[in-house]
Amino acid sequence: MIIDEEKVLEEHGVMFEDNFISDLDSWFSADIACCNGCYDGFVTFWPLANDVEFERSLIGIQSFYDGSKRCKKIYTNEEFDILISSVECPHCDESLSSSSTIWLYELPFKYDVNVTDFESHIYDLVRISETTPFLLLTNQFASNICEILKKLSLKTLAEKIEHPLYRARVATQIDQLSFDQFTLPPNRFIQEGRYNHAGQQALYLASDQQTCFQEVGSVLCYVAECEINDKIKILDLCNPNDSHPDFAIELWALAYSALMSRVLDTEGYHKPCYVFSRFITDCARLAGFDAIKYPSTKVTDNNFNLVILNNEIAKESLKFNSLTLKDNNQNYPISIATSSVT
Ligand SMILES: [Zn+2]
Repeated sequence: MIIDEEKVLEEHGVMFEDNFISDLDSWFSADIACCNGCYDGFVTFWPLANDVEFERSLIGIQSFYDGSKRCKKIYTNEEFDILISSVECPHCDESLSSSSTIWLYELPFKYDVNVTDFESHIYDLVRISETTPFLLLTNQFASNICEILKKLSLKTLAEKIEHPLYRARVATQIDQLSFDQFTLPPNRFIQEGRYNHAGQQALYLASDQQTCFQEVGSVLCYVAECEINDKIKILDLCNPNDSHPDFAIELWALAYSALMSRVLDTEGYHKPCYVFSRFITDCARLAGFDAIKYPSTKVTDNNFNLVILNNEIAKESLKFNSLTLKDNNQNYPISIATSSVT
């Protein structure tokens, strides 16, 4: 029997999307993020979206129909095939079809950020970063973020970090082993990093030894355990819901977007993907933050990195506890005189 497409759309078109979405909601706890046609673009804009802590699923539209409760009861397979074309992928706006696959993600900001708008900001900012990085503040979105960080700093209290932190150095780059080797590096050796300009001191720490190990490229390294004795004011991009609830949505989106979390994909001095995070560093420093806590692009399971921007804190308040030599398989404790850095 040849099915009349127009008639099916006329009869069921109005209610179909609601039924489809509520079926989806009863099955999955996440929302549609993208389809097979735009998946590559989605993960380029949101590199941390594959973080294990977020719920994510993938299902073909035909399999969805076969396993669905409501849709299968209301529509025949032929009707469903026609009606699904009235539903668009929320990411690329292309119509779905029975051969489409959809990805469902539970991103922390999904209800509050217009992902498509945010992606167009990312696109503009990445373009400025790659061509005229000193002009970032001419972009309204970048300038808004700078203002947000100033307001955020006024509302953020300095606090003491009650657990140890870790700092790694590649083993072959250390000649004389002492805790001094784990303090601020000399300016003349500093290349630009995710949160520092070339020649600008910043101390990169991590929440645990494994994150440290992976951040230095998973090679044999020394990892020093330390603690910070003073209260510090932290810009928290890992868990803004708790730390900065008034601006949590903007910070979540920033931290998980390609602006801040793009994995370094160039070599040598050309690092345009760090321009925006260095811009955030400047804004954070200007606003009075001592440090930025940010998710790792290497290990994603509640691990974090902490970059100390305030050199006084890095010089005066850091106390080293112990040292470990670490490779892929094992940690080897190293005996070394404990000292605080002055
Ligand atoms: Zn799509």
